[in-house]
Amino acid sequence: MEMMMWRCDTCGKQIKTEDDGWVEWVTVVDQKKGTSTGRDLRLVHHGKCQFNEQKEYKKDGGIIGDLGLSDFLGPDGLVALLELMERGEIPQKEVVAMIQRLHVPGYENARPHFKSAISEGVIEPNMAPGFYTHRDIEAVIAWEKRRRQR
Ligand SMILES: [Zn+2]
Repeated sequence: MEMMMWRCDTCGKQIKTEDDGWVEWVTVVDQKKGTSTGRDLRLVHHGKCQFNEQKEYKKDGGIIGDLGLSDFLGPDGLVALLELMERGEIPQKEVVAMIQRLHVPGYENARPHFKSAISEGVIEPNMAPGFYTHRDIEAVIAWEKRRRQR
């Protein structure tokens, strides 16, 4: 089985340890309606790759929400992500993608290559876009490895 790895949404480089990873999003409160919505759920390096607070606030009054990567790993982390989805502020699509990135082995490794693997006929997924069986994930990783060696 493939090891879990993580890639930073800001710089694209690997996040080497749990402690180096950070999950963040922006919450925008609508004072008139009394509702809040979330946007831009992402996984980044702790520190330099995080959102700029002032910049996000200037955009739409957005306030940054964040937690360490380790808070979203393991069974409790999965529950925390499901709770985030249940609250319904952050678009479901973004939370589902994050759940797969953090909890489906190999997903994050294969993620940049799904598109080309499909167009090359390496896999023929029969689920909605963005969902892959473990067999497909392993096939994409093996194909990418062979491709790199060429
Ligand atoms: Zn980074």
